[in-house]
Amino acid sequence: MPSKPLKNPCNLCQSVRAILKRPKTGQQLCKECFFHVFETEIHNTIVDNKLFKRGDRVAIGASGGKDSTVLAYVLKLLNDRYDYGLDLMLLSIDEGITGYRDDSLETVKRNRDQYQIPLLIVSYKELYGWSMDDIVKEIGRKNNCTFCGVFRRQALDRGAIMLNVDHIVTGHNADDIAETVLMNILRGDLPRLQRCTSIITNDTSEDSSGIETSKVLRSKPFKYTYEKEIVMYAYFKKLDYFSTECIYSPNAYRGHARVFLKDLEQVRRTSIVDIIHSGEALSASVVANTTTKLPTLTTCTRCGYISSNALCKACLLLEGLNRGLPQLGVGHSAKIRRQHEERQRDSGTSTPLPTSSSPVVGGEESTVLAATVTLPSSTSSVDTGNAQTKDGLDYEAKVVVTHMKDLETRIGQLQMPSLHST
Ligand SMILES: [Zn+2]
Ligand SMILES: [Zn+2]
Repeated sequence: MPSKPLKNPCNLCQSVRAILKRPKTGQQLCKECFFHVFETEIHNTIVDNKLFKRGDRVAIGASGGKDSTVLAYVLKLLNDRYDYGLDLMLLSIDEGITGYRDDSLETVKRNRDQYQIPLLIVSYKELYGWSMDDIVKEIGRKNNCTFCGVFRRQALDRGAIMLNVDHIVTGHNADDIAETVLMNILRGDLPRLQRCTSIITNDTSEDSSGIETSKVLRSKPFKYTYEKEIVMYAYFKKLDYFSTECIYSPNAYRGHARVFLKDLEQVRRTSIVDIIHSGEALSASVVANTTTKLPTLTTCTRCGYISSNALCKACLLLEGLNRGLPQLGVGHSAKIRRQHEERQRDSGTSTPLPTSSSPVVGGEESTVLAATVTLPSSTSSVDTGNAQTKDGLDYEAKVVVTHMKDLETRIGQLQMPSLHST
């Protein structure tokens, strides 16, 4: 029927004009074919790695950001399409960051209603007695990410226990993982390299005090999914997500790894996935050649969380906060401990450092009270009703190009000396 050959046809279906260039492969695709390949790759990752089994109760770690919003949408879609038989839930952590988390949690609540998935929110304030706003007021902007990271891992686990789930999935994407691989290679941290390249783990700790293992599995279905494609997918599906970054988290080191990665990606689009594969290969050889001594695991004498020390990392940090010694447990703990002991010797008092007394954090009984499960209300529309007109593919193509340009510009603002050699 078409008398003239189609201008710029989709590389896959050949029957519709392409409106985007796939960042991962360079293929020019129409919208429907892009959705199809994007979703199918995630399905293949899930099946090839046997992430789930029928009947699993799975919590999606939901922040309201693009990654976890797309993850919730796609997991629900694949669960229906391929009949995985999963019981899906949303699990959000409220760190207590005014102007950031309060707004992003509103997004998660809308996602709960849009996707009809139950939501549990657990908050730092209720679990630990401190919100991140409180902590930053006490300790300043330095090291606050240490507190947040340790508290979040435990909070997710506690939320998982409240929901009685077997498995938490997170929205970590290929770019995040490639950055982490780079950082761990630069630091020569082989145990963490191994952990960050595993698609499924039950290790939850990344701190230096030892590995804290959880009974709840964690996995990353977006391990091979490019960040740019997640943004494109969210854009074309008009998903409702929150796009501000945390106001307390200028992670300088990761920022450099990120810029470096974007430079590499400009030269060769497969760089991201190549780095992940390198990380996997290195980890495999590390596993084959070493007998890494794993710490003996016990339970925290204060809160009952699994730990390799008498006090888990969260309880150690809380001990510091509650005693006005916020450096306790952050980095040079031996030195701080010595200073603490000296100060006590001088003042003639003797408050020993962390022992099994003083219930700062409650055990399971108190944590169960610290959250409310909210069920979806009746709406089921996924479309957020964006006022974008669909009067022409060119228009949409142009918009996405502009959108991706914004992303590039923001990334470009951090640009370091370029790698591009001639
Ligand atoms: Zn197509
Ligand atoms: Zn503890």
